[in-house]
Amino acid sequence: MAEMFYDNDADLSIIQGRSVAVIGYGSQGHAHALSLRDSGVDVRVGLRPGSKSVAKAEAEGLRVLPVAEAVEEADLIMILAPDQVQRTLYKEEIEPHLAPGDALFFAHGFNIRFGYITPPEGVDVCMVAPKGPGHLVRREYENGRGVPAIVAVEVDATGNAWPLVLSYAKAIGALRAGGIKSTFTEETETDLFGEQAVLCGGVSALIQSGFETLTEAGYQPEVAYFECLHELKLIVDLMYEGGIAKQRWSISDTAEFGDYVSGPRVIDAQVKAHMKDVLTDIQTGAFATRFIEDQDAGAPEFKRLRAEGEAHPIEATGRELRKLMSWVETRDADYTEGSV
Ligand code: NAD
Ligand code: MG
Ligand code: MG
Ligand code: MG
Ligand code: MG
Ligand code: MG
Repeated sequence: MAEMFYDNDADLSIIQGRSVAVIGYGSQGHAHALSLRDSGVDVRVGLRPGSKSVAKAEAEGLRVLPVAEAVEEADLIMILAPDQVQRTLYKEEIEPHLAPGDALFFAHGFNIRFGYITPPEGVDVCMVAPKGPGHLVRREYENGRGVPAIVAVEVDATGNAWPLVLSYAKAIGALRAGGIKSTFTEETETDLFGEQAVLCGGVSALIQSGFETLTEAGYQPEVAYFECLHELKLIVDLMYEGGIAKQRWSISDTAEFGDYVSGPRVIDAQVKAHMKDVLTDIQTGAFATRFIEDQDAGAPEFKRLRAEGEAHPIEATGRELRKLMSWVETRDADYTEGSV
């Protein structure tokens, strides 16, 4: 059984006694900075001067400083810039301003696990990695709930890293839902696998293949959209509430029987073998190298794949249908459809 931590296991006064710098103000950055502030923590946001995020953070009443100055001022630095920029940002603007006794925090272990960042001796290296999108992390906190998080300590230089990690996790609401003790290695490898094989890559490809199969057989794209994409949320909500078993209880016997006989035909042994290959590429660092080399070259592969995904016919069909469903909002002011 995994070791879990809840609100009663953490002392909020520890983080309230630190000076925190949140570097980046995107999906996770805004959620951490605002919830830390609301938990009575002394927080500043580190951003590049001229970044579009500066105005957003200042509009919320947060103090914004250039990254180097924020790190200098703070004794706990949470790096919430995109994973691919962290290596350079760290070298140029963070490392020169770290002092012994400082703590370096991450929300994903990518740069530590694959060796792109090597913190100096004397610095605690910690992780609070929410298991959900940043905008939900903030919304749940505001609603008195929380998104669970993975908590980990890579280097306990001060001997006080664990109480500090738990205190931080409590301040962003994570311990209301539960903190799961893990390691940088386990978090990094399972997070990458989950998003690639199941949550993002697997589900997106499953939806697109289902939509293509129906439309290529001559069925209307609107019907295919509802069947393969829209209804997925309703199905996943049931799984979230009560596991796959509750989903099967709620659907018709016809659907349940079809689930048993056809699910394993689609996701067969070969698919599972491919999943194992994906996991191997994560563990060996092959995926990390491919991602970072592409980014360093200006991200040609990433940009091409993103454009191809946006051009898939299911996106145009969905755009039209969602206009007619007034209650479906993106609920994310940063996201404008078609402009990602
Ligand atoms: P994001 O892309 O939403 O936001 C990045 C922020 O960093 C922006 O405010 C941007 O202005 C800033 N930034 C970009 N380049 C910068 C630079 N050179 N210097 C300073 N600031 C810069 O990022 P995100 O998705 O919130 O990811 C942040 C971290 O959180 C990553 O390690 C990611 O793996 C992890 N994480 C993200 C999520 C999520 O919900 N998106 C979930 C769990 C963990
Ligand atoms: Mg400092
Ligand atoms: Mg994840
Ligand atoms: Mg991830
Ligand atoms: Mg149906
Ligand atoms: Mg049933």
